[in-house]
Amino acid sequence: MADRPRHPHKEIEAVVAEAERKGWRWRKMGHWGRLFCPHAGRDGCQVGVNGTPKNPEDHARQVMRAIARCPHGTEDGP
Ligand SMILES: [Zn+2]
Repeated sequence: MADRPRHPHKEIEAVVAEAERKGWRWRKMGHWGRLFCPHAGRDGCQVGVNGTPKNPEDHARQVMRAIARCPHGTEDGP
């Protein structure tokens, strides 16, 4: 987490930081990185984060939705 580069887009950076607070982990993959939910198993959720999306606001919402869909949260319970 400490070695994650800041996302160039403010809104996406905020979404990624929020995901990290919820226990998601970032890994460098693809065009910028990928977020993995707190459930580390094969059936855990993951979402790709593009470093240069055509529509950053749309992409931020997309990533936010993937995080909201995750049933494995550590804060909000099952
Ligand atoms: Zn999940």
